[in-house]
Amino acid sequence: MKKIQVTYSSMPPIEEYINEIKDLWDTHWLTNMGVKHNEFQSELKKYLKVENVELFTNGHMALELSMQALGLTGEVITTPFTFASTTHAIVRNGLTPVFCDISIDEFTIDTNKIEALITEKTSAIVPVHVYGNVCNIEEIDRIAQKYKLKVIYDAAHCFGVKYKNVGIGSLGDASCFSFHATKVFNSIEGGAVCFKNSNFGQALYHLKNFGITGPETVDGIGANAKMNEFCAAMGLCNLRHINEEIAKRKKVYERYIYNLKDIKGISLNLTKDDIEPNYAYFPIVIDENVFGTDRNGIFEKLKENGIMARKYFYPLTNTFDCFHGKFNAELTPNALYISERVLTLPMYADLPIADVDRICGIISDCGKR
Ligand SMILES: *Cc1c(COP(=O)(O)O)cnc(C)c1O
Repeated sequence: MKKIQVTYSSMPPIEEYINEIKDLWDTHWLTNMGVKHNEFQSELKKYLKVENVELFTNGHMALELSMQALGLTGEVITTPFTFASTTHAIVRNGLTPVFCDISIDEFTIDTNKIEALITEKTSAIVPVHVYGNVCNIEEIDRIAQKYKLKVIYDAAHCFGVKYKNVGIGSLGDASCFSFHATKVFNSIEGGAVCFKNSNFGQALYHLKNFGITGPETVDGIGANAKMNEFCAAMGLCNLRHINEEIAKRKKVYERYIYNLKDIKGISLNLTKDDIEPNYAYFPIVIDENVFGTDRNGIFEKLKENGIMARKYFYPLTNTFDCFHGKFNAELTPNALYISERVLTLPMYADLPIADVDRICGIISDCGKR
């Protein structure tokens, strides 16, 4: 039986990658902001339509060090319907996450519920563009200005997404991308922060390189989060194919919609008018009372057929064992509802349409007759 994973990493033709890394055998410069790193950085600026980009070893360090560079203190408002990284980046900075609920149909922070959570200790909002769905950025902007809060977007899911023709990385004080192998765009492992303020950029640069500010000066307690040359080379190659990859994902997305749109009890994540999407994920939300089988039932049925869907995001970060007793998931009821009913289906550029049909057939057979 052919196995189908939930993602399948994009790779350029092998000759293209070999050609890209050849120079490294001449220079023996393998990391520490080399030629590939700098070229990748400038190509990304163009592609993402942003003023500044700082590259990182992964998306998590991009987030964690952005928070540190902004000098956040006290409490940070965020959502629990996200990958572990978002919440961990906050806690690892010695900050307290304050969990806001999500909107039930877009899965992003419910901006109507933010203001009630603001206290004199709040220093920032960390919203997540979940599945590439763009947060309510106008409202977040208004609230941040009114209460003088910083905004760091977790933009790990939305590489290449545009909102009203503006690159998604140009929002907030910082927007953090992940180039992990499982994302729409990858540099094997990698990440980037996009931002406007150049002082912040300097702080970020120092934090990713041990706080070194000169040949004989170290004036910050930095980490090591530099992107190496082989990852940058992979990023350069994959960037040449990204538009084509997104176009192929669109075909997969449309086939899923065609197959699943009329099934009662299954809701789909539809794209919105002002947004140029990247088709990063294909989440479905199953109402077991209407559909007849619950999320876990469908997950198991797909697994029996060699199809690896993912309960993404389950569990919520505010229910993780490492935070036992610290948070109450009942205070984020929409997030709790969705995390118990959501399933992301296999989604990648080269997923054959026949496989999409087979996956949808199995799902539809789980429903009421
Ligand atoms: C993948 C991901 C990250 C972390 O990125 P890495 O590159 O894996 O470190 C952060 N936030 C979200 C929402 C993610 O999906």
